[in-house]
Amino acid sequence: MWASVLNLRRPAHPPAVTLPGSSGPSCPPGFYTKEELKPHLQRPPQDPRAPGANGKAFFSHKLTPEEHYEKILGYSKNKFNQFASDRISLHRDLGEDTRHPDCLKQKFWCCPGLPTTSVIIVFHNEAWSTLLRTVYSVLHTAPAALLTEILLVDDASTDDHLKTRLDEYVKRLKIVRVLRQRERKGLVAVRLLGAQAARGEVLTFLDSHCECFPGWLEPLLARLAEQPTAVVSPDIVNIDKDNLKFSKPRPAMNYHNRGSFDWVLTFGWEPIPSEEKKRRKNETYPIRTPTIAGGLFSVSKSYFEHIGTYDDQMEFWGGENLEMSFRVWQCGGQLEIIPCSVVGHIFRKKSPHTFPASSFVIIRNLVRLAEVWMDDYKWVYYRTTRRAASIFKANSFGDVTERRKLRERLKCRNFSWYLENIYPEAYVPDIRPREQGKVSYFLKNIGWKCFLDVKTKQLEPDMLKCYSEGEGQYFEYTSKQEVRLSVDNKWCLHANPGKALVSLELCRLEGKATMVAPEQVWILTQTNHLKNPLSDNCLTASEGYVIMTKCKPTILNQSWIFI
Ligand code: UDP
Ligand code: MN
Repeated sequence: MWASVLNLRRPAHPPAVTLPGSSGPSCPPGFYTKEELKPHLQRPPQDPRAPGANGKAFFSHKLTPEEHYEKILGYSKNKFNQFASDRISLHRDLGEDTRHPDCLKQKFWCCPGLPTTSVIIVFHNEAWSTLLRTVYSVLHTAPAALLTEILLVDDASTDDHLKTRLDEYVKRLKIVRVLRQRERKGLVAVRLLGAQAARGEVLTFLDSHCECFPGWLEPLLARLAEQPTAVVSPDIVNIDKDNLKFSKPRPAMNYHNRGSFDWVLTFGWEPIPSEEKKRRKNETYPIRTPTIAGGLFSVSKSYFEHIGTYDDQMEFWGGENLEMSFRVWQCGGQLEIIPCSVVGHIFRKKSPHTFPASSFVIIRNLVRLAEVWMDDYKWVYYRTTRRAASIFKANSFGDVTERRKLRERLKCRNFSWYLENIYPEAYVPDIRPREQGKVSYFLKNIGWKCFLDVKTKQLEPDMLKCYSEGEGQYFEYTSKQEVRLSVDNKWCLHANPGKALVSLELCRLEGKATMVAPEQVWILTQTNHLKNPLSDNCLTASEGYVIMTKCKPTILNQSWIFI
């Protein structure tokens, strides 16, 4: 089995960084025994009827008015159901190990052994129960021999329960330490604080609202022992924000998702492409991923330093995961998801954190990464996001000289190499759309002097509007003759043959494996008509709406310009 020979399959060329492992070179060959992988703390036996036991959902019926009030407060503070979390044991068991049989069979060489790790949990005003459940879930699952310490790193929380009470409480948990950052700076700064203090060979980062599934740590460390230039993420499963149900892994192969990104530079999930599925001989194989979610991952401490840790001028939240993803791939490392390692995370829809200048900091972080890692593809991002373009123009993203020097020092590859080799499935917009010279365009109708407007991302076909006043949306006319909404480069003008209706639909051209749909082809004629050859009709403005009508070269309300 592939994973059981992990340490025999050292790379032919030794990597820049090596992990010695925790035992010396003269140890007898063999696998770790169960006894040797015992955790620090045995989980107390649980009553299967207890709230949330075995990872089940918590449901509350018939709340008193006080309880109802408590529930609402908990939601508004955390954007998850703190009321439920507070009623679930800090030690809850997740029940039977439902991972794929390949994972259950996996054994780990103890000679040389697995590297040790520091688990770094950063937090800002986290609820007590979710934070402590994260800590206990590590103490109950991570082998004591491999867990050097748990570092709780506080990003200047203001909640009382996270001050002396926390300090006092963790004193009884021997290997847990609290580190504090006095001023709130955001998750990059706190993770760096934790990384500097860490004494383990591997850094394992977790968010402050996670629960680790049995056997999660060993596969991460085993992969790093074999491939020290990897940055590995567990398979991150959902803990339901409303009822804390832990989505247990299924014993199936390849059903996981991997990380992606779009052109507004948001991280996303997508299914594993078939090439990657074919490469994986069994479920213990890592899944190569273009990006990682960024909250939960392990990396060798020395490789983390070698590859440039983080951009320490990124503030508060956002962007650091894509920055790390592009950097690791472009500079010779690799990002992987290890499906035998399962960790739950409470995903929520909104951020509970306050930001000084709303989302400005996030976009500023993204401009920094675009400036350093994306070469000319940064124009695509600036086209999709007006605020990013203005931060770029005003040169208000701070100094990136050091990060560019790092890129040079590590002799990193360029962004088009990344797109072609690491993410060939991606849809790559034109660096510059057909109309040269401008960044983005309104589509203006000459006859009605109105601007094409759409409800972004509408799923139901609806009449498109043309407004005389206010702003329409930015569109771009692509080299494949689509009219794409610039917002995220995913939505296209779509003709419906035989109907007057013109709609906005997901662009059928999504990446290399797909083609432009004939409904989404638009010929821009010399008279500025946008003609869809399939329906043989033209885009027409008519009394506030936009429809398809027969092309007539002299009609001005069929004339469109990108301005
Ligand atoms: N965090 C922090 N400082 C901040 C924002 C977030 O320390 O200014 C912590 C937060 O407590 C969490 C981690 O960083 O442990 C990731 O943030 P969050 O969970 O809000 O992000 P999400 O998982 O929703 O993307
Ligand atoms: Mn989180």
